[in-house]
Amino acid sequence: MENKEKKVAIVTGSSRGIGKEIASELARNNYKVLINYKKSQRIASKLKEKLISEGYDVDIFKADVSKSKEVDEMFRYCLEKYGTIDLLVNNAGVSLEGLITDVTEKEWDNLIDTNLKSVFLCSKKALNTMISNHSGKIINITSMWGVAGGSCEVVYSASKAGIIGFTKALAKEVGPSGINVNAIAPGVIMTDMMEKFSDKDIMALKDETPLMRVGSTEDVASLVVYLASEKSDFITGQIIGVNGGFVI
Ligand code: NAP
Repeated sequence: MENKEKKVAIVTGSSRGIGKEIASELARNNYKVLINYKKSQRIASKLKEKLISEGYDVDIFKADVSKSKEVDEMFRYCLEKYGTIDLLVNNAGVSLEGLITDVTEKEWDNLIDTNLKSVFLCSKKALNTMISNHSGKIINITSMWGVAGGSCEVVYSASKAGIIGFTKALAKEVGPSGINVNAIAPGVIMTDMMEKFSDKDIMALKDETPLMRVGSTEDVASLVVYLASEKSDFITGQIIGVNGGFVI
């Protein structure tokens, strides 16, 4: 492993939660990682310091991935610093619970731009380099609600279903260019995103899950490492659930 040249990854929304675990696992698995965040400067800096102190090559970049100008700046920084991009993990996302009749146009735009437009903007930039390298991997983080639909999470489900269509179509389009595109559809994973759920809600979700537990950030990150590796070179266009059997 040590003699193998390190690859370069960008993980969007990796200051906290699932993205933080993905960025850390990739760093431990021979990737130089650009950790992206929108607001959590202090937390991102602490993560960078920790990983660098452990001997890994990581950096942080503040960019709102729903904004094309900021995405362009992030990719410019990555190419200037690391010279290429081998792996893009589109992980940044926000959630929104409530009745569809209460959702405002502004909330719709914010959620769709953050969860779905960001995948388009970042993938487009990464593909510029990947197509000329004739190699690269894109991994999109969708949700089991994008597959099954979640009541009172209609906009979130729509954004995540959009990612699924995007993944399948893009995999067909760029497969001949040597690029793999897959999506991971997590179930209930304990992060800040789950904070609004009470202990009772979490117990009920565990009861509905065949494996009788909620997921961890490690459950998702280990699949990212596999999908990023050469071991998964014949896998593309797939939506892989990490949900303990909640949605099959
Ligand atoms: P989280 O703990 O709330 O973390 C969200 C991350 O996204 C943070 O790093 C945040 O950055 C970043 N982010 C949000 N908006 C951004 C923007 N516009 N530009 C750049 N970064 C932005 O969420 P999580 O639970 O880890 O979720 C990560 C992904 O997994 C999301 O796409 C989510 O939909 C998906 N997912 C989560 C679950 C679950 O149960 N947790 C289940 C299925 C799918 P700041 O720290 O700067 O705010």
